[in-house]
Amino acid sequence: MKPKIYSTYSIPVQVKDYMAQYCDIREWHGDGRTPRDILLEEIADVEGLYTGGSSMVGRIDEELLNHAPHLKVISNVSVGYNNFDVDAMTKRNVIGTNTPYVLDETVADLAFALILSTARRITELDRFVKEGSWKPTTNYREIYGKDVHSTTLGIIGMGRIGEAIARRAKFGFNMDVLYFNRNRKQAAEEKYGAEYCDLTSLLTRSDYIVLMTPLTPETFQIIGKEEFKLMKKSAVFINISRGQTVDEQALIHALQNGEIHGAGLDVFEKEPVDPTNPLLQMSNVVTVPHIGSATARTEAAMAMRAAENLVAVLTGKEPIDPVGK
Ligand code: NAP
Repeated sequence: MKPKIYSTYSIPVQVKDYMAQYCDIREWHGDGRTPRDILLEEIADVEGLYTGGSSMVGRIDEELLNHAPHLKVISNVSVGYNNFDVDAMTKRNVIGTNTPYVLDETVADLAFALILSTARRITELDRFVKEGSWKPTTNYREIYGKDVHSTTLGIIGMGRIGEAIARRAKFGFNMDVLYFNRNRKQAAEEKYGAEYCDLTSLLTRSDYIVLMTPLTPETFQIIGKEEFKLMKKSAVFINISRGQTVDEQALIHALQNGEIHGAGLDVFEKEPVDPTNPLLQMSNVVTVPHIGSATARTEAAMAMRAAENLVAVLTGKEPIDPVGK
């Protein structure tokens, strides 16, 4: 008998064909993620949980693990795994896996999409044109943007994705790259001329700041009131990591009080974002709905990598991407 697995979303056909050789699959076919009460029932007899992304499953905690006594592996279809209680999983010998590498370039593309649209006011001016406000009398000085090329980019979290952003910055936009990590990354310094600096120095010197760390207890609200005060008034702040790495109230305050120029946001403290969130009313803020890796090609690659991780554990092999070790 094949081991049973549960998926919190409907698995792409090719990936499902591959997985079906090794396991019996049950899937959630409803909108959004599986409601928690249904999830807790569905996992009672499974050995594998396939999540469709960290936000598609919610917290993997003691309560969930208590409902899944046969569970061996939880395969996140995402690189972030801040939804895992790694200690609780380790205690029960449940292996967690993620999908690094296959999404790096796609997420780096989004970083530049947000940098460029915030700097050149693309979403604001798109509305301006479509609403018929572009007139022969339009004063062009009022719609000027900011240059991206030949400026300074600060990357907080120079990891896999951070490096893909640095490469675009250096070779595509002739930018100086600063970065802050807990550890120096010699390779990034050699390849992209990136300069390692402390957080204060990065914040005070950068024209564009991209936050790209994982969400951990250490990075929770790593950017808050004091950090926004250190930034240039002309700075653009981009967050693609997780909403909770930023103190969102402090971000709103900084934007409302002209402490920074603008922001590009893929992630929010609460997702989906509350429609009354003041960030949604600001023309100098570009927002997208957590789409860092959301292209058809990359999502398919992530789904397959997550499937390979899950199948590896269920067939007694080492997964490619174990986390928390
Ligand atoms: P990664 O390769 O592990 O890079 C993360 C970097 O952050 C590392 O270089 C790490 O360096 C640094 N870092 C960790 N803790 C830090 C701290 N306390 N202070 C300063 N730097 C710290 O991960 P990745 O693949 O690039 O992904 C990064 C994160 O992006 C993911 O965990 C996820 O949350 C987010 N993400 C979001 C989307 C989206 O759709 N918006 C998509 C993909 C990824 P040190 O260890 O030297 O500190």
